[in-house]
Amino acid sequence: MSRCFNFSAGPAALPEAVLRQAQAELLEWNGVGASVMEISHRGKDFMALAATAEQDLRDLLAIPDGYKVLFLQGGATQHFAQIPMNIARRDQVADYVLTGAWSEKAAREASPYVTVRVAASAQDGGYTGLPAAGRWRLDPSAAYVHLVSNETIHGVQFDPLPDTGDVPLVADMSSDILSRPIDVARYGLIYAGAQKNIGASGLVVLIVRDDLLARSPADIARIFSYAEHAAQGSLLNTPNTFGWYLAGLVFKWLKAQGGVAAMAARNREKAALLYDAIDASGFYRNTVDPAARSLMNVPFTLPRADLDAAFLRESHAAGLLALKGHKLVGGMRASLYNAVPLEAVQALVGFMRDFASRHG
Ligand code: PMP
Repeated sequence: MSRCFNFSAGPAALPEAVLRQAQAELLEWNGVGASVMEISHRGKDFMALAATAEQDLRDLLAIPDGYKVLFLQGGATQHFAQIPMNIARRDQVADYVLTGAWSEKAAREASPYVTVRVAASAQDGGYTGLPAAGRWRLDPSAAYVHLVSNETIHGVQFDPLPDTGDVPLVADMSSDILSRPIDVARYGLIYAGAQKNIGASGLVVLIVRDDLLARSPADIARIFSYAEHAAQGSLLNTPNTFGWYLAGLVFKWLKAQGGVAAMAARNREKAALLYDAIDASGFYRNTVDPAARSLMNVPFTLPRADLDAAFLRESHAAGLLALKGHKLVGGMRASLYNAVPLEAVQALVGFMRDFASRHG
């Protein structure tokens, strides 16, 4: 089977140009006589790669001075726990905004290390929208406010970001980083697992303001300390060198595409095409409040659950991969990350029309 249009939620589609470059460089990278996976992370060649990747990310997101960029491991899930270990004391409160399954998990993993307080929640509505602006109850003495900018499972995304006052804002951007411009200065800490818009799994990128780095307590193991990782340029131990390399290729690709503003325009166009097709169909349904709909993850249902198997079988045969929805919400989900081209969404919409006409 040749490469299909891939709507996977993550690990997700990578730009074909990036995969081709990685393929071409797999046996020998950069004239060093070995692949990038087979050289020391402390040698000058890898160090140069690491510095370039960081600079390209800084350029793409216009990261101001006063923030460190870390390339770590453990997945976003490990950082759900590691963030409170670093930027809160156990006797402090941290405000969590619940907008779906990932913010719930973040709160759960944080709870051994800080007193988790729910400042706002959309759970009552089944996470089909964002918590109403007037119903947020932020604690001005909280160590930080945590939110998930895009809920990968429920298909809910913040746009624009809420005003959370002076308490440092911590955002899990695993599924929408680099999909649109952001004002980094509004955040204390941004983090994202790589396997959607950055590269391959096994790498987590963190953007941390210096004053929050300074909170890392001295009595945690060094391997968990963001301050230590920052002091060592993310080379405290052996990093995910191949993941870092791939991320660097994706950053170059993004720059060549015109950067995150250009990606945002494309992402809006892709998502509009799919949501319009769903809304106009009288067959498919997306129940998320239109003001909160994610441009990255589009869950939708068919009129009868017994059609799901046929939809998945036929879409797969048509070269459309990974449309099965998450078990928590059921139905289907199409993920439209940066590396998913407009043609993929056009093909999906065409298939959906045809399927509806045959089963409607
Ligand atoms: N946060 C969000 C928003 C996610 O989508 C995911 C993974 N799908 C995670 C956290 C967890 O990432 P990981 O599996 O890499 O720990």
